[in-house]
Amino acid sequence: MPRELKHPVTVQFLKDLEQSIPRYIKAIGSFQHENETWTLIKHYTAKRGLSCQIVGCGHTPIKDIYVIRDSHGTELKIGNICITKISNQKIGKWFADYKRKSQNIRKNRAMIEIVDGIIRSYDCRDIREHDAVRRCVSWQGIERLRKMLERMRIGLNPNPKTELLARYYIKRIVQAMKAQTP
Ligand SMILES: [Zn+2]
Repeated sequence: MPRELKHPVTVQFLKDLEQSIPRYIKAIGSFQHENETWTLIKHYTAKRGLSCQIVGCGHTPIKDIYVIRDSHGTELKIGNICITKISNQKIGKWFADYKRKSQNIRKNRAMIEIVDGIIRSYDCRDIREHDAVRRCVSWQGIERLRKMLERMRIGLNPNPKTELLARYYIKRIVQAMKAQTP
């Protein structure tokens, strides 16, 4: 099954997180290097490492690649250390944080889908199978699950106690649903 269908909420969270990249790049603005004005065009992770193209650096291999462009259209592919130094902004750290958040969302994908499902069921009063959720989860519990989902949405890991609570609820809901099937 394609990932989009199996983990739709997770895919949406990843897309939302991706939206932060162009916003961040725009916020960086331009910076000066060797009497030229440069802007960051994009960042990507290279499978095979390259050499940093800043004269006098040549650091190799770099896998986190930052493409910068000057006003004449000259482009350079440079590494973490140089982009941070030239821009005088902690760009390398921002992208390292981004990568960690993205990995967390992927890692938490099963929990994201289940917790989202529980919240949706709780909020929906119509369908019979949702009764199991309403019987098993208190409103305080749902509020904790909402906070847990918000943490996972932005790439944080769930609070361990809340995750235990979620696992407990999942077990109860599964039992309740089994019990109500004729
Ligand atoms: Zn460099």
